[in-house]
Amino acid sequence: MVAAKRDTSHFVGVLGWPLEVTLSPLMHNVAFRGLGLDWIYLRWPVRPEDLADAVAGLRALGAEGANVTMPHKESIARYLDTLDGDAQAIGAVNTVRRSGDELIGHNTDVVGFSEFLVGDAGVRPEGASVLVLGAGGAARAVVKALADLDAGDITVAARNPEAAAGVVALASDMNRTVGEVAWDEAAGRVDGVDLVVNATPIGMGGETLLGEATFRASQCVIDLIYSPPTTPLIERARAAGASGWGGLGMLVRQAAASFAIWTGRPAPLDAMSAAAIRGIGHHH
Ligand code: NAP
Repeated sequence: MVAAKRDTSHFVGVLGWPLEVTLSPLMHNVAFRGLGLDWIYLRWPVRPEDLADAVAGLRALGAEGANVTMPHKESIARYLDTLDGDAQAIGAVNTVRRSGDELIGHNTDVVGFSEFLVGDAGVRPEGASVLVLGAGGAARAVVKALADLDAGDITVAARNPEAAAGVVALASDMNRTVGEVAWDEAAGRVDGVDLVVNATPIGMGGETLLGEATFRASQCVIDLIYSPPTTPLIERARAAGASGWGGLGMLVRQAAASFAIWTGRPAPLDAMSAAAIRGIGHHH
């Protein structure tokens, strides 16, 4: 199919379901306006059974691309023409870019996490030992980023052993060894690591995670949850003198990377970050 010819505004949007809460339209529209670009970012709640039609719609209407969120990050790949390296490596797409008549799948969660880790949290990941909780799309992006940054021992803990084995296999495809620990033994591993990353939704409702663990001042704890901005895990880490970070920084960094992919321009990080903080304030 040939993309529609248009001389109107450029448009992108986010595909997800149920897509109740998303900060992406706010961040990107602020960025477009700030740079004076004739672009608009829309919200597209799309049911799983309508995803194929939605992607055909992107082509027919000439969208510049899209962000992709739950539950479509994995299933959208089959409707795209090619996948770039990170999307291919972790089997998940969070950004689509149109290039001529082709739709290309990217994954900016990987670079979003590494830029946040190094640029914002100030962590030096080379050789660091890391415990990653969860084995979903976010965990895979974190493991890929850590492997790219030459982290030391990486251990994954997940309640579903098959999902954990999937992350181990993904790492082995990248010639990396990743260890696995049973979910109820994760707390016991905290003492031996430099960095803990929560890539599960546990804590969104104030739930405790790694209840028996104690933290040290030299450690860094990153919770990918961004709404609410802090979780009990982060608070406990900070109370022990460790550095604790929520997921907002990664969210802004992955959005900035998508923005650059679509527009070819560096994203206005400060404006996007301020917009995200404002948006979270509205949800809480
Ligand atoms: P996902 O693909 O659904 O994976 C979620 C993972 O958490 C799975 O391993 C799941 O295990 C596990 N999990 C869920 N509930 C659990 C529980 N009660 N006990 C133990 N494990 C549990 O989701 P995702 O896309 O990876 O996202 C994970 C989290 O990261 C979410 O909170 C999301 O908001 C956040 N995130 C943040 C950013 C950011 O930019 N800051 C980006 C992406 C994701 P099962 O497979 O057994 O269900």
